[in-house]
Amino acid sequence: MHRDTLILRAGLPDHRTPGAFLPGPQFASTFVSPGDPAAHAYTYGRFGNPTWTAWESALEALEGGPAVAFPSGMAACAAVFGSCLRPGDVLVLPSDAYYTTRTFAQNWLATNGVTVRLAPTRGEAQAALLDGARLLWIETPTNPGLEVCDLGKLIAAARQAGALVAVDNTTATAALQQPLALGATFSLASDTKALTGHSDLILGHVATADSEWLTKLRTWRTQHGSIPGPMETWLAHRSLGTLPLRLERQCANAGALARQLHARSDVTGVRYPGLPGDPGYAVARRQMSAFGTVLSFDLVARARAEAFLGALELVRETTSFGGIHSTAERRARWGGDPVSEGFIRFSAGCEATEDLLADVVQALDKAGK
Ligand code: PLP
Repeated sequence: MHRDTLILRAGLPDHRTPGAFLPGPQFASTFVSPGDPAAHAYTYGRFGNPTWTAWESALEALEGGPAVAFPSGMAACAAVFGSCLRPGDVLVLPSDAYYTTRTFAQNWLATNGVTVRLAPTRGEAQAALLDGARLLWIETPTNPGLEVCDLGKLIAAARQAGALVAVDNTTATAALQQPLALGATFSLASDTKALTGHSDLILGHVATADSEWLTKLRTWRTQHGSIPGPMETWLAHRSLGTLPLRLERQCANAGALARQLHARSDVTGVRYPGLPGDPGYAVARRQMSAFGTVLSFDLVARARAEAFLGALELVRETTSFGGIHSTAERRARWGGDPVSEGFIRFSAGCEATEDLLADVVQALDKAGK
């Protein structure tokens, strides 16, 4: 079966089962479950919920390994860090990883006795820091720098060094890139982004082919109470069937926009893994089935970036990315990332390509040089 068809059907009841295609969310704190609890699939809402089960079986089809749903991408990250790392352990993290992942490692893990070693994503620089490491954390393409690293190479190096490997696959999603098939211990993502794609929920998940780690992650969720809501879980599942279609349009729009911006003399530093000439292009071409929905570029000065964002008619100025509506933001407004005051992170949506390009062009023209 083609992967798109698989995703369309993932986690739905068998096609001969009478009833809804996707049964509605089950809102339950507790389930009728007389006698021996082991005789029941569902007992208490923190332990399990049929709506999670359906969503997780869809994620399993997508990831190629069982998945555990969490209430946010950061909850998924924290579950991996918390399950794997103890005081005295070494974590190798990208120095250009998502800001909150880095600050969590530096402000929480490091102050609790974990040694955090940092190296950039580009050029697989993390491979040089693996000696004695317990966990290698990879993010590719990175948010917001869009740097790419070779997953196969880094995973092989980590295995050689006896380290576990977690891949934050948020920007690509498992539809475009499959870390478990490449030997990663964990593939995780913020499902807030392209995976669900409608900018209407916060969720995350971790997938692993290792049954012991799966049990530990489930135990982490149950004991920390780090549980997703049935409504969000159901909405996410409802959104999943259109993932290949959404990504097809969004990646095409991102590529068209990157090429258009690259051709302009008044825009510098265009980054998109799908641009031939981008430092990540060769690896991304091998490793990803499409180049993703996010690009970035530099308008150098804050005033010009703000004028550009203010002049956009179609594109909304918001943080986050991966949704069906194009969005953009001046990343430096948050602090914490080594980007210029005019750096724009742009998330391409599902608009007709000509409308999107026209809007960006008119806003750039209005923003001046
Ligand atoms: N990982 C990456 C790469 C992200 O970009 C984000 C959010 O932007 C997260 C993790 C955290 O996800 P969430 O906001 O769903 O907690």
